[in-house]
Amino acid sequence: MSDADNCAIRKRPEDEGQKRYQPDGKGGLLANCRQCGRYGLIGEAAIAASYSWPAEIRGPLSCATHQVSEFGQTLRITAYNAAELAEQHANARASENIDKLLAETARQSGRPGGWAKFDPDTDFTLIDCYSRTEFDQYIAWISDAGLVSKRLVMSGQGPVGDPIYERAFQMSLTMDGWSRGQPLPRPGGLPGRCFRRHVIRPVHGWCIPRRHKTGH
Ligand SMILES: [Zn+2]
Repeated sequence: MSDADNCAIRKRPEDEGQKRYQPDGKGGLLANCRQCGRYGLIGEAAIAASYSWPAEIRGPLSCATHQVSEFGQTLRITAYNAAELAEQHANARASENIDKLLAETARQSGRPGGWAKFDPDTDFTLIDCYSRTEFDQYIAWISDAGLVSKRLVMSGQGPVGDPIYERAFQMSLTMDGWSRGQPLPRPGGLPGRCFRRHVIRPVHGWCIPRRHKTGH
């Protein structure tokens, strides 16, 4: 049912020229990828369509699926909605992406003093970035602005006692970061809830599937 190497969105180089998308028995694909999270292709037509998605769809679609997956939901991609789902993550303003990164750090941290962990190779899609390079830029901005503290995590020691660090790093919001990054309740919906009829709707920078709307 699930195959980490079977991502229809990333189309990894090793998948080039190989038809590796395996139907899950229900005419679709349930994928689980470090960059895209958990998502589903619904129907054989969606699988067929995925082969011809251009890069302009793959980048933002990976953001859409990962951000929904992070909240424990599975985005359903059909043959017809991929472009619409992608479009909502295609034109984020830098300030919106900064707010989204701070909100994600707040969510993972839980409380002041807590730490959030990010793998720069796969977590750039937690905000609307298409590459690690873009993500690194946002990290540098919020770090330089004093909104977060950043630290590396030692995973061991080398032959001469030199520290070896994990690829993933940790961030903790400063007081200024919490002031800007903490999600607040909104009239008509709680943080993490959607109250519009759209399939995906950003709420405080969080994108939530429509089935979690709290009203119309
Ligand atoms: Zn993927």
